[in-house]
Amino acid sequence: MAQFLAAKAAQPDAIVFFRMGDFYELFFKDAEIASKALGITLTKRGKHQGQDIPMAGVPVHALDGYLARLIRQGFKAAICEQLEAPAEARKRGSKAVVHRDIVRVVTPGTLTEDSLLDARGANRLAAVSVRKGRAAVAVVELSAGSVDAVACSLEDLGATLASFRASEVLVPDRLFSDEATRAALDGSGGVVQALPQALAEPVGARARVERLYGVASLDGFGAFEEAEVSALGLIAAYLETTQAGKIPALSPPRRSGDSGFLAIDPATRLSLEIDRTQRGEREGSLLACIDRSVTSGGARALAERIARPLRDPAAINHGLDAVEWLLERRDLRRDLRDGLRASSDVARAVSRLVLGRGGPRDLAAIRTGLSIAEGLAGLFPPAREPLTGPPARIVACLDRLTLSPDLGRLLVDLAEGLVAEPPHLARDGGFVSAGYRPELEEARRLRDDSRRVVADLEARAVAEAGVPFKIRHNAVLGYFLETSAKAAEPLLRPTGESPFIHRQTLANQVRFTTVELSELDAKISQAGYRALAIEGETFETWRATVQSLARPLQAVAEALAELDAHAALAEWAEEVGGVRPVIDDTGCFEVTAGRHPVVEAAVKAQGDPYTPNDCKLDGSGSACARLSIVTGPNMAGKSTFLRQNALLVVLAQAGAFVPARAMRLGVVDRLFSRVGAGDDLARGRSTFMTEMVETAAILTQATDRSFVVLDEIGRGTATYDGLAIAWAVAEALHDRNRARTLFATHYHELAGLETRLAHVCNLSMAAREWNGDLVFLHEARPGAADRSYGVQVARLAGVPAAVVSRAREVLDRLEGEKAAAISLDDLPLFAMAEPAPPPRSSAVEDALQAIEPDELSPREALEALYRLKGLG
Ligand code: ADP
Repeated sequence: MAQFLAAKAAQPDAIVFFRMGDFYELFFKDAEIASKALGITLTKRGKHQGQDIPMAGVPVHALDGYLARLIRQGFKAAICEQLEAPAEARKRGSKAVVHRDIVRVVTPGTLTEDSLLDARGANRLAAVSVRKGRAAVAVVELSAGSVDAVACSLEDLGATLASFRASEVLVPDRLFSDEATRAALDGSGGVVQALPQALAEPVGARARVERLYGVASLDGFGAFEEAEVSALGLIAAYLETTQAGKIPALSPPRRSGDSGFLAIDPATRLSLEIDRTQRGEREGSLLACIDRSVTSGGARALAERIARPLRDPAAINHGLDAVEWLLERRDLRRDLRDGLRASSDVARAVSRLVLGRGGPRDLAAIRTGLSIAEGLAGLFPPAREPLTGPPARIVACLDRLTLSPDLGRLLVDLAEGLVAEPPHLARDGGFVSAGYRPELEEARRLRDDSRRVVADLEARAVAEAGVPFKIRHNAVLGYFLETSAKAAEPLLRPTGESPFIHRQTLANQVRFTTVELSELDAKISQAGYRALAIEGETFETWRATVQSLARPLQAVAEALAELDAHAALAEWAEEVGGVRPVIDDTGCFEVTAGRHPVVEAAVKAQGDPYTPNDCKLDGSGSACARLSIVTGPNMAGKSTFLRQNALLVVLAQAGAFVPARAMRLGVVDRLFSRVGAGDDLARGRSTFMTEMVETAAILTQATDRSFVVLDEIGRGTATYDGLAIAWAVAEALHDRNRARTLFATHYHELAGLETRLAHVCNLSMAAREWNGDLVFLHEARPGAADRSYGVQVARLAGVPAAVVSRAREVLDRLEGEKAAAISLDDLPLFAMAEPAPPPRSSAVEDALQAIEPDELSPREALEALYRLKGLG
């Protein structure tokens, strides 16, 4: 109990799994929580301070399954293992307790077991910190050994964090309770863990990160911002405790400022269903629709590419070069994909081995990966041929696939020494090939020869004793001779000297041994132990080699994954007839015959055709419109059209071909989509409130490089309120943000903006009435829609005929009245003056904004005060 309480004190917020022989046992509150969460029986064991101790237990072999369920429900688990055999403890004294300690804390972001991970999705641990008005996100993917650090503005924190889709997010506790950061954390999609503020202090954080990497200074990895160091420090602290001192093999932090990526905030990701649908499923998302990868590493690389599209035209074009090159080489692509299909998850195997959780099967995965890497390189033509040779991104992959002498040696070694299909665990041996180590052969031969002698012994014993003996074996007695109680009687009362020594009497059987049998037994078990020890040593040698080569091995895994991702995009492009988008630095957006990949697939699956649509916007103030007002009846395809164009931006900047006849795109810095927002009941916000919060974010963050799609802003309130808000938002996006915008609305009055603002054009989704029925053409045409056809849509939806015809009557009356009463032009709206420019902030206000009271020394605070006084 003292041992348990010590373990619990070390990890107070984790559920402690305490190893007791063949079970992990849980006590006190942990037992109660786990029995509820896992549906396991709650019992009692012993007493603590006079009270019964609640207890629950799970068998050792079933641990993974239970862990998976706990982690999924947001719990942490600490594994407290027996660190010596009971025999060793007994040597210290008859009452000595087996030594136990926590070997690892299992948390959502630090899983490495295949059984607990989604093979096609990365599992990441993120940390967030804010220093001196700058934010940073640090991210580690333990099973790939990769680390990212991204510094960004406070505004972009939500988008940056969401782009990693971490399953666990660490924050210093001061930020945890900060309202502004909360929104970013809520949108991250991960379990949020607050850590003590002190762990985020830059000096200590730096030292911890240096320790994690075993370097004297972080400077060799680049010049990090304070917030980045602080976030990395949180990760290092968390790994220290959860991995119980085992240091994972990590590559140096990749730094990417927020300028490197297309910023997509959590609400936009959700609305566009980029890698998850609004219901949180992968199926039905853009990613699931285009994913043609053949390896789990490739699937993860592709997911990463789609989740974090780029912003730099040159970098995007490099990706497109690779896809195009593979698209044009169908045979090569087929061979490449066939080769990759046979490969294994090298990245995860390496990280498990480095963390001491790997087994012989992970070694086999590395062997397969390396031999495939070797084979694939030969498929490609030489890089030096300028016209036909592979482009830079592929060459970079091929370079990493060329095995260094060290990796080559490891491959040969594993090919020789590891059996073809090794077992999962090293513990029971049986994975080192025959002939690989002579001393192992020797031990195995001794063991097997002795077993043969044992088998002969049975016949001899039967003949000698005249009793039907059977040779059996168990863990306690080793080998013994067994016979029925009746047959054993004469042997139990021997008349003279008998070679049969009585060992045990059961209800119906009696067991004996002989001197020869016990000698053989000792020989066999010694040889067995020896063989196991040699296999254990061999495993450890291989494991250590893998650890020392972890980085180059991860590089091979990355190259395989990247090639798979390029080839997958080429495959998809061929399937859907995609084109290469032309990417540049202008402000244009021009799509000819674009299609929504997911809706198209759904529509076609039902045997209907999909109508492609053009869309042209220009943010640079040319003759072409910057903002389009899209009108049309419900179900006409407005939201599909809006999302389609936003998704084409995502695909293009991810370096993918796009489903369209042609596309030209001036790179987008931030993408916003508010299409069909639902109630955010979890946070107690109505649809209208959510919509306004999100609209506010767009208006403050969108730039003339951004791309915005907005659907039905203002619909959640009274008509004139809503119209007024929609009007003002459209005007602001046009005049101030100057973002390329598609603005779908039910307020046909907004079409009036076309004549009032310089860069607005109207589009409508066409619908026709045909014999009293409504036919949707799904075609975006210039000009505003004339009517809403709401009543017709209600009829299509199956609203009872009486209600529909009554609605038609009311509508006719209203339309008659409206014509007679005011028209919109009579509203003061149009007579209004230009909106007043926002008040400019003063120099004192700016200076005040820049001050971070928490980070000033008393002396700096006084100096700041004088400075302010000087400005006033
Ligand atoms: P709205 O936003 O105008 O109410 P949606 O965009 O939700 O309409 O589209 C309604 C349905 O119409 C979609 O679910 C899809 O089945 C179909 N649809 C939309 N656009 C197209 C298109 N371009 N081609 C074919 N079918 C389409």
